[in-house]
Amino acid sequence: MSQTDTAIIGAGPYGLSLATFLKASGVPFQILGEPMEAWRKFMPPGMLLKSEAFASSIAAPHSGYTVGDYYRLKGMAYQPVGMELPLETFVDYGLWFQSNLVADVRTVNVVDLQRENGIFHLTMSDGKSLAARRVVIAQGLKGFAQTPPLLRGLPMRYVSHSAEYGSLAWARGMDIAIVGGGQSALGLAALFNEQGAARVHVLVRDPSVRWLSKPDTQRSLIAKLTSPDAGLGRGWVCHALSEFPLLFSFLNEARRKRIMDKSFGPAGAWWLRDRVVDKVKLSFGAEIRHAAIENDQVVMRVMTANGESRITAQHLIVATGFKTDLRRHGFISKELVASITLDDGLPRLSNNFETSVPGLYVIGPATAHRFGPVMRFVFGAKHAAPRVARHILNARRSVGSVEAPPFAVEAPLAEATNEQSGTL
Ligand SMILES: Cc1cc2nc3c(=O)[nH]c(=O)nc-3n(C[C@H](O)[C@H](O)[C@H](O)COP(=O)(O)OP(=O)(O)OC[C@H]3O[C@@H](n4cnc5c(N)ncnc54)[C@H](O)[C@@H]3O)c2cc1C
Repeated sequence: MSQTDTAIIGAGPYGLSLATFLKASGVPFQILGEPMEAWRKFMPPGMLLKSEAFASSIAAPHSGYTVGDYYRLKGMAYQPVGMELPLETFVDYGLWFQSNLVADVRTVNVVDLQRENGIFHLTMSDGKSLAARRVVIAQGLKGFAQTPPLLRGLPMRYVSHSAEYGSLAWARGMDIAIVGGGQSALGLAALFNEQGAARVHVLVRDPSVRWLSKPDTQRSLIAKLTSPDAGLGRGWVCHALSEFPLLFSFLNEARRKRIMDKSFGPAGAWWLRDRVVDKVKLSFGAEIRHAAIENDQVVMRVMTANGESRITAQHLIVATGFKTDLRRHGFISKELVASITLDDGLPRLSNNFETSVPGLYVIGPATAHRFGPVMRFVFGAKHAAPRVARHILNARRSVGSVEAPPFAVEAPLAEATNEQSGTL
């Protein structure tokens, strides 16, 4: 069994970002997971990012590793706001970031996580194990896909969640229905339509789609001051939510929930509108009352603004988002889950992203209930990663420069590549 100070579970933007900050702090760590997996495997080719280019950079303590730097390196025209950033380019950027700054990722899945006598024990998909004093869960949205109860239990061949797709080529010539009115639903509708689906029908619960407008890139100084560009969008509210997640965390729970529910509800990006409106069928006020499989298709009874109708599709995509629930992370032992204080599946977190179990941290979208909507986006890593790294560094310092190893040492420490020193 090898050992380390900090194990990071997940090698997406948050895990990678944290790795760079830990490295700069001289904290020994191991990072486990497939780099940029969610973006490479579970988002459709041809997708454009919803976040602005400048807000899609993965945070690092060194300069030279932003999306803008990558574009310049490749000789591509770059515009921080109002530029279309393709998924494929973002994936290349993320892998370039990883290979330059976090080359030592172990591409394994953690299949079991336990804690005994204050030490975490991880078992990995390659059969090896690792002991760690601290664990940071950076798994993104994995396992949190949410399907309305009425549609659960229908065979996957007919009904699936938007989180399950990379390529959409399978849908060529098919009749597709999509439930949802946000970016995922609308983005998929455009791609299915452009990639040869026979018919695309989007069932939107709201009375209309909220389209975001194209940001004006030629603004006066006054306009920029009165409505600044921020990670989450434009304006002072967006600025506060983008830059001060800790302030958000001090609001009471009801207020936080209200902001989360109301301020960043479903919306479609500006570049999507012309690809959806008049190109695919949209039904508003849609509420599915019943769904079943009949004659090799999904048959739904749907209430819409125009009354109840029967809607059929060869395949139904559920694009109704995600709900964080740590109990759904199957790899965490029952005993460990039971010792984490959860509110309806949401981990109670300290200001340093630590759960109620000392040394167990969560970063990324699963912390949005505490630190606000910015954590649902790559942009939030610039807050989470340095904060967690600093907390871990301070914890190590407070117990003295030499901590006892996590367990009785049988083999030399396997930390060859991560033990660099430096400060945040
Ligand atoms: C369709 C869609 C579009 C989006 N568009 C944007 C956008 O434009 N801009 C934006 O900022 N955000 C966007 N998001 C949100 C985005 O997914 C998150 O902001 C971001 O991916 C969070 O990064 P992360 O590192 O927390 O998670 P992820 O990127 O999901 O990475 C999770 C990592 O965990 C690893 N992992 C999972 N399970 C295990 C395990 N058991 N053991 C080891 N490793 C494991 C995976 O291999 C992966 O490396 C979008 C999300 C979706 C679904």
